[in-house]
Amino acid sequence: LLLLVFSCNTTENKNNKTQKTTPFDTKIDSLMSLMTLQEKIGQTVMYSGGWTVTGPTVSKNNKKHIKAGDVGAMLNVYSVKGTRNLQKLAVEETRLGIPLLFGYDVIHGFKTIFPINLGLAASWDLDDIEKGSRIAAEEASAEGIHWTFAPMVDIARDPRWGRISEGAGEDVYLGSQIAKAYVQGFQGDDLSQPNTILACAKHFVGYGAAQAGRDYHTVNMGKGELRNVYLPPFKATIDAGVETFMTAFNEVNGVPATANSFIYRDVLRDEWNFNGFVVTDYTAINELVPHGFAKDEKEATKLAIDAGIDMDMMSNANRLYLEALVNEGQVDVALIDDACRRILLTKYKLGLFDDPYRYCDEQREKDVVYKPEFLQAARHSAAISSVLLKNDEKALPLNTDQTIALIGPLAKDKENIIGNWAAAGDRKGKAISVHQGIQEYLNDSKILFSRGCEIEGDDVTGFQKAINIARKADVVVMVMGEDYDMSGEAASRTNIKLPGSQTKLIKAIRKAVPDKKIILVLMNGRPLDLSEEDTLADAILETWFPGTMGGHGVADLLFGTYSPSGKLPVTFPRTLGQIPIYYNMKNTGRPIPPNNPKEDYKSNYIDVPNTPLYPFGHGLSYTTFEYSDIKLSASTIGFSDTLTASTTITNTGNYDGHEIAQLYVHDKVGSVTRPVKELKGFQKIFLKKGESKTVSFTISVEDLKFYNSDMIFTVEPGAFEIAIKGTSDFNFEHLFTLE
Ligand code: BGC
Repeated sequence: LLLLVFSCNTTENKNNKTQKTTPFDTKIDSLMSLMTLQEKIGQTVMYSGGWTVTGPTVSKNNKKHIKAGDVGAMLNVYSVKGTRNLQKLAVEETRLGIPLLFGYDVIHGFKTIFPINLGLAASWDLDDIEKGSRIAAEEASAEGIHWTFAPMVDIARDPRWGRISEGAGEDVYLGSQIAKAYVQGFQGDDLSQPNTILACAKHFVGYGAAQAGRDYHTVNMGKGELRNVYLPPFKATIDAGVETFMTAFNEVNGVPATANSFIYRDVLRDEWNFNGFVVTDYTAINELVPHGFAKDEKEATKLAIDAGIDMDMMSNANRLYLEALVNEGQVDVALIDDACRRILLTKYKLGLFDDPYRYCDEQREKDVVYKPEFLQAARHSAAISSVLLKNDEKALPLNTDQTIALIGPLAKDKENIIGNWAAAGDRKGKAISVHQGIQEYLNDSKILFSRGCEIEGDDVTGFQKAINIARKADVVVMVMGEDYDMSGEAASRTNIKLPGSQTKLIKAIRKAVPDKKIILVLMNGRPLDLSEEDTLADAILETWFPGTMGGHGVADLLFGTYSPSGKLPVTFPRTLGQIPIYYNMKNTGRPIPPNNPKEDYKSNYIDVPNTPLYPFGHGLSYTTFEYSDIKLSASTIGFSDTLTASTTITNTGNYDGHEIAQLYVHDKVGSVTRPVKELKGFQKIFLKKGESKTVSFTISVEDLKFYNSDMIFTVEPGAFEIAIKGTSDFNFEHLFTLE
């Protein structure tokens, strides 16, 4: 048996689960042989340095706990000095000198802030996303951070949910590709390098499906949907080598994720062979009590570790209850050994036992943070993440001879522009406002500015001044949107229109200058209901929250240095009542009349069309692209064949530009019904004006698989529709057959 075990390169642990052998096993074994149970539990405890641990039994002074060997990791400490001081305590003043792990939410940049994640997803540019997270890791690691709580790979199809801003949108394929890119960027090729950090796939699982878009709310989900839609981006992070996972706050089908052994033991460990460690979300063990799943925190502690959770973030549960639970025979000590081993392993992989201070480096901090090339990369990301939703009569790009009326509460903003989850980012000095970006292209004499109104509130007293400058100018640019904290955690909305009196102001300007072009530049963290704005503005540029260099990136687009290339990673509805609405829905037994609400007994609303305002995959350019008919290498393929699909794309307009070609497939008949369209590939190509290129995709049966009703990942013979287009809004015209 021993021989067999070694030849498989695995060892058996107490739970009969297999764990891979690693080059650090001997060291970990000998270290663990010296550790007391209390010290092992200490490795599973994470405290925050940013604010104090509450509760009567916990000292406000984390230092005391660190010295006692009761803490394995810290979050929210992010400076060379701060991390070094605490590390010193762990290394020099504890019995065994085990270094601490420092984690932080490095979500879309650390100091140099990139567009919010939903914006980054709109670039569909995997290389750019990987590069951005590499930069974030460079900056964060120079300040002592070893571990980011990112990427968030929750599929999100409800714009009411504030955290839709932190993910890659609604699609499983796009989301999975992007998930990999983040992990590769953060972790690099070699974790022992001091400029790479651990990534964390979160929130496992189902968080994006919170009922009615209310944060933390109940999740009820069939196993098919769980496996076909919500799990794959997490699996993709494992394929990319992600080292850690974070639990979700929500329950899944009646069992809170943080105590859900189906998710952690059956799927994550047994099916996916994940070897890293699992951390809870913030105080998620405590929350098992108000969830109504544990009678008290002690029971919650047992439920979490039994379910496969390794580290306790801020519940202070493991420290208070685990030792007693073991002594009372309620928790198997082997579970604590497993958790401790996994956490120590990451510390070895990071090289912390060789040099615990290697991540705290003043010189590197000086050299790296806000490096000019990082800022340049952020500017580029801002430009390629924006989506041109509408551009009637070529309202954009602007030309530099014109005088512009720059109006709106976000035009000079440097605070909101960097978006949510950017705590280390500078919301004042460093950020470039849209106004500053425009100043690079226009003399001040050609920029007339008026704030017009606030983001929230119904004050209209600024309208008249805004109207006056609109009358004097050649073109009106309005910069509007949400406050940055209207999206993100605990920021769900039941109303997804532009807040406050902003739309009213657009109406007032439209009325005052009916013949002038109005360009609406938007910053927001979710799909908005823009049905009114769509009728008022000539052009709409969705810039999300574009980050530190956002103003430059946006101006580069407004003046045509870049032609917009972003495509929506999420559907923009016509109205809140359509939610949830996403492109790869299912058919019903009834025909769908997309644009005729009046037809009877069809699957439609009687008051609005079924179609969204702006579909997934939509995004205009200053130039135009024409797609030739798709060519297929065969009309019928066998189970071991591949199919090549190609299309020639021609730039038929007057600008050079990038286009994102999207491959969609529709499995027409299945033993469980299949979505009307599924994205299966995409390519970003550059075409000079007049140029043509052929894009080709190779499809194998692997790409056509799905989980059937027995939860078997399979492919079924039959007809598949296929298309390559620049948006998800099209009707299929071509077929192939699998037999
Ligand atoms: C969030 C996580 C985050 C953690 C640490 C929680 O409230 O849900 O996404 O990583 O806090 O800041």
